[in-house]
Amino acid sequence: MTTDPSAQPELWFLTGSQHLYGEDTLRQVAEQSQVIVKELDASGAIPARVVWKPILADSAAIHAQVLAANAASNCIGVITWMHTFSPAKMWIAGMDALRKPLLHLHTQAGAELPWSTIDMDFMNLNQAAHGDREFGYIGARLGVARKIIAGHVSNPAVVDRVATWARAAKGAHELRTLRLARFGDNMRDVAVTEGDKVEAQLRFGVSVNTYGVNELVDVVEQVSDSAVGELVDEYVEAYDVAPELRPGGERHESLRYGARLEAGIRTFLTEGGFRAFTTNFQDLGGLRQLPGLAVQRLMADGYGFGGEGDWKTSVVLRAAKVMAEGVDGGTSFMEDYTYHLVPGEEKILGAHMLEVCPSIASARPSLEIHPLGIGDREDPVRLRFTGSPGPAVIVGISDMGDRFRLTLNQVDVVEPDEALPRLPVACAVWKPRPSLSTAAECWLLSGGPHHTVLSSALTTQEFRDLAEIIGTELVVIDAEATPESVRRELRWNAAYERLAARL
Ligand code: MN
Repeated sequence: MTTDPSAQPELWFLTGSQHLYGEDTLRQVAEQSQVIVKELDASGAIPARVVWKPILADSAAIHAQVLAANAASNCIGVITWMHTFSPAKMWIAGMDALRKPLLHLHTQAGAELPWSTIDMDFMNLNQAAHGDREFGYIGARLGVARKIIAGHVSNPAVVDRVATWARAAKGAHELRTLRLARFGDNMRDVAVTEGDKVEAQLRFGVSVNTYGVNELVDVVEQVSDSAVGELVDEYVEAYDVAPELRPGGERHESLRYGARLEAGIRTFLTEGGFRAFTTNFQDLGGLRQLPGLAVQRLMADGYGFGGEGDWKTSVVLRAAKVMAEGVDGGTSFMEDYTYHLVPGEEKILGAHMLEVCPSIASARPSLEIHPLGIGDREDPVRLRFTGSPGPAVIVGISDMGDRFRLTLNQVDVVEPDEALPRLPVACAVWKPRPSLSTAAECWLLSGGPHHTVLSSALTTQEFRDLAEIIGTELVVIDAEATPESVRRELRWNAAYERLAARL
């Protein structure tokens, strides 16, 4: 699922200079910056086209180029580089107007100094070492949120960092136009799933609106039998379907209703231009099952989702799905469910009532039906599997009243200690870093939610870059974290966020 197939995302590469050097030098600047753009673009690692723009040598041209970037709906960010010296007063109007994510690439045309032949012509051309310092100053002076990456583009580590930032820029870009449909409101009395939708739209761009669940029921009931049949065929192909659910099985009708739910929700979301949604088991109207399989398959196709009306987690999941496009690994809605607290063996078992994304599965899922104690409906069909082992991040979002806070924990997903034959839902088991007790104490100090996004495709860095771009607090619980360090950081952040906030 892409945002708009006709609009391939672009990063605009802006090279600064000035007229002082004369046409010959500016021509060389143009040629060499195009070589850098080609190298970035040809790497295949960056999830957007890197597009070269003509050399910028005066204030009016810079301002006009930035306004064009702001207006271009497929421009997800801007990369700047000062090959020569570009007096930075020329950049004030442009940087003040910039509304797209900014990467300052502090690089140079060549990686090596030509020691034996270097002369003043070479020095005159290759002065990013101080030209970019002039640009860095004005960025700092104006307080422009930006990523800075220093190094030569022939270094794979540099390209890798650019690609990571580009994934974050793509996620932020998605949030600017994201539409989220809520089927029903929040689960009654729950605190952490609440939040300020007006602030979310201002800060992230996402619009969050509720639809009566029976509007969805109408669409579900209009799904054709042939559409249901096609989905059932797909299920039989893709999953180990329980015999009772297979065509001819005694509970096949339940599977057909699960397929009807998937087709109906998909139609509702497609027609409304929604790429994220929520459900609430307390508000199912005329739906005969809590959507389980349907939600799992929609997440696998890139939709954001949150249970119990949790639109904030659904927003983070959609951003994570976009950031993870083209990267190995999976990304799912998750909930810290229950603990294994044997000393030295501590682990978290994460799951949900039904809604875990099969993108994190370690093997082919099975498609089963079991009773569900809550929701007061027919038994729902669901995919069952365990999460694939490996490093991952777990990210949650909380509304702190005056701002949103992201909390991230680095974890290692592991195999369950034993088989889980009676657990009727998909799950993942992980060891938090640095330890369960420290991570949990830090998470609770931070007010992190029980609903999260688990991703083995993304790293802490994508979320650091995203948080910087969208101007949102991020608390990272990594291998070095302690409750003391996190407590200090939270206090400093509180002071910073309140000083930096609008009056
Ligand atoms: Mn839940």
